[in-house]
Amino acid sequence: MKLEVTKILQDRVKQQTTVHLKGCPLRCGWCDRPEVRKPKKELLYDVESCVSCMMCFPECSLDAHNFVNGQHVIDRYKCVGCMDCTDACPAGCLTPASRTMSPDAILSQCQSTLILSGGEPLVQHEGVLELLQKAKAKGISTCIETTGAFYPSQIPAILPYTDLFVFRIMDTDPVRMKKNTGAKLDVLLSNLKKLDEAGKETHLRCKLIPDVNMHSDYAAGLAALYQSLHHCKGILPDPYSPCSPAKWKLLDLDPPCYLPASPNETTAFIKQLEDAGIPLITE
Ligand code: SF4
Ligand code: SF4
Ligand code: SF4
Repeated sequence: MKLEVTKILQDRVKQQTTVHLKGCPLRCGWCDRPEVRKPKKELLYDVESCVSCMMCFPECSLDAHNFVNGQHVIDRYKCVGCMDCTDACPAGCLTPASRTMSPDAILSQCQSTLILSGGEPLVQHEGVLELLQKAKAKGISTCIETTGAFYPSQIPAILPYTDLFVFRIMDTDPVRMKKNTGAKLDVLLSNLKKLDEAGKETHLRCKLIPDVNMHSDYAAGLAALYQSLHHCKGILPDPYSPCSPAKWKLLDLDPPCYLPASPNETTAFIKQLEDAGIPLITE
């Protein structure tokens, strides 16, 4: 089963390979990975480099390339991401957001630890399962970075092939979580509890975003969550860092307007976690 991969990052020092997979059920207002959200293939279009030569137009059988008010635009509702037009562009403006890769092709680039990230890796659960099975057969350590937005029925199959789950927590307040990400907190936490009950080691990776979740009740909520788990090794603070607006523009989307926390705000929040006696994890 092949997988849609947006990027593969190598950490030679830690011997870790991180694979970013396409697909995410959440819709975080501050999203810093717009290219992974949709599970399907997507065309990136660099409008700044387009010379309006129209050479891509005849390559698209769905007439997704058009001129509107003198500007070349792509009809995103028509585009199915077939990539038939990409080779026609002399300016290199049209590129795929992801590559389709087999588990073997991914593992051929893998070092001693494989980290699957997203989005939500389990959107591609069949390919992920095959990849994890093949990784373990080669003696590779495995980790899934998850949002918790997956079907509980998927847990039994992946458990034996996953050494660590890094749970990406966006908030501990159900109202804010629903408003800011579209997700139901109790559903995500129910999956976290199931992993914990199965004896799986977890880390809580908590996103820190000023004016969204950096309140004392978030720190208290994280402390309570950590203390309720039996196999959680600690919390990894993850201060928000916005991605380049150009990344959004490549998908014809407007970038979100969220600011990162100042060093003082981050330090003060982390101190609340330390004061609550929570072990901190660094990357
Ligand atoms: S979980 Fe990550 S990829 Fe998904 S919407 Fe939120 S920030 Fe974006
Ligand atoms: S990727 Fe395919 S569907 Fe989309 S614009 Fe190019 S040729 Fe048309
Ligand atoms: S082929 Fe490239 S440069 Fe020419 S119109 Fe299409 S996107 Fe623009």
